[in-house]
Amino acid sequence: MHELSLCRSISVIAERAAAGREVTTIHLDVGELRQVVPETLTYCWTIVREDTALADSVLCVNQIPAVIACDDCQAQTRMRGIPILVCGSCGSGHVAVVTGEEFLLRSLDVRG
Ligand SMILES: [Zn+2]
Repeated sequence: MHELSLCRSISVIAERAAAGREVTTIHLDVGELRQVVPETLTYCWTIVREDTALADSVLCVNQIPAVIACDDCQAQTRMRGIPILVCGSCGSGHVAVVTGEEFLLRSLDVRG
């Protein structure tokens, strides 16, 4: 499972960042294009955290919408449904992804 290996990576980074402090919440930014199901990610975390110093922590997943920018009309539109790289304003295919590819450990809440 893809989410399980992501959680292992998160635990390594979070343990290092926590430096022995007790972590209560781990805040993640996850782009829509990352094909990650937030519920699956938080469930996998409950398995992975058991083997770490982060056993009392929870994941808080902030999903970032996929937005594309059009080279032809300069519009920025939200990608909808099946990701298709077409401008939502003029229909041009000359677009670039602005947001939606994030996978970022944004912050940790620590006790005390
Ligand atoms: Zn356009």
